[in-house]
Amino acid sequence: MAEMVLDGVTKRFADGTLAVRDASFTIRDGELFILVGPSGCGKSTLLNIIVGLEEMTGGDLRLDGRSLRGVDPKDRDMAMVFQSYAIYPHMSVRENIAFPLKLAKLPAAEADARVREVADLLGLSALLDRKPETLSGGQRQRVAMGRAIVRRPKVFLLDEPLSNLDAQFRGQMRAELARLQRRLGTTTLYVTHDQTEAMTLGDRVAILRGGEVQQVGTPRALYAQPANLFVAGFIGTPPMNLLPAVITPDRLRLPTTERSLTADERAAIQIQNGPVIVGIRPESLVPTDDAGLGAALTGQVDLVEWLGSELYVHLDLGDTDLELPQALLESGAKGAGGGLRLIARLDPDAPVQEGRALSLDLAFSALHFFHPETGVNLR
Ligand code: ATP
Repeated sequence: MAEMVLDGVTKRFADGTLAVRDASFTIRDGELFILVGPSGCGKSTLLNIIVGLEEMTGGDLRLDGRSLRGVDPKDRDMAMVFQSYAIYPHMSVRENIAFPLKLAKLPAAEADARVREVADLLGLSALLDRKPETLSGGQRQRVAMGRAIVRRPKVFLLDEPLSNLDAQFRGQMRAELARLQRRLGTTTLYVTHDQTEAMTLGDRVAILRGGEVQQVGTPRALYAQPANLFVAGFIGTPPMNLLPAVITPDRLRLPTTERSLTADERAAIQIQNGPVIVGIRPESLVPTDDAGLGAALTGQVDLVEWLGSELYVHLDLGDTDLELPQALLESGAKGAGGGLRLIARLDPDAPVQEGRALSLDLAFSALHFFHPETGVNLR
């Protein structure tokens, strides 16, 4: 068993910087838990608190019910893998992997057996006598993982472990890490700034911004029901489209169109009257020929990106008389030309052409609603 509970963890540095504020979440036994957020959001600070390199100024941290406050890093039963692989260049692969066991004064025969088992697991058996300089980046990464695994810690902490690898190889190593974590079943905290890594790898994900946890949930839950505008914009590629809108007692006004709202639809939104921000995922936008009949966003295609299996179609909706909340201006909803922008993800053979008009259907079920000032999800 290894369950880690963060209970209101807070860190204020001596200069007054509040790097982590009241962080509370539970990393369940055996889970691959991802901590993700942009640069400066407090990821490293939180990780340092967990591993014991930094003291929290408030809250508590418990591993299997035991508080880790004041517990020495070496007594926490955690192993950390850093982005810089931190393997010793003068030692062979075998010596590198065996190093923590040597420190722990494990009998040589047992250490040797464990090193062989780990090398086998990681596909390093043929490389045990090689020096790190003769290894590829991915192999070195595996050695670093091996050194963490060999100790059989209660918890793995991975700090941006793939950021030094090139893009193509990163995808491969990501899958390798996921398989390895499942096989070992060791409780793991994985820290990254990369939302794709977070979404593809995580059993559950915590999104951090400005030292505050924005939302904790499965990747699917975060994608389908983002708690606020920040999460909505942070997760998904291309990001969710955001538009100004106004709700009246029976209608929804959007740029270029409006649609009626049924009583059920209106009841599903927490604001009954007034401005809102509407979010639509790029894949939820479907071309329609019936623009005159129902509600449809209409604009001019200003760029088509072909990605083989799909198109990213950029639409310029032009100007709107709807007021643009500050949060929208900051999110870059307006393009360089001043018009409102949308991106639709369409089939590669969708009949679209740069310079032509395009209408996109609006299904109510695909719309997200956010408070124009607080950014909170209203559905
Ligand atoms: P990155 O992804 O860029 O490494 P991060 O999410 O890991 O960023 P942290 O390094 O945890 O962010 O920093 C969080 C905040 O705390 C930042 O505003 C940073 O400037 C501040 N900070 C970090 N260390 C200290 C310190 N020793 N004293 C004062 N402020 C600090």
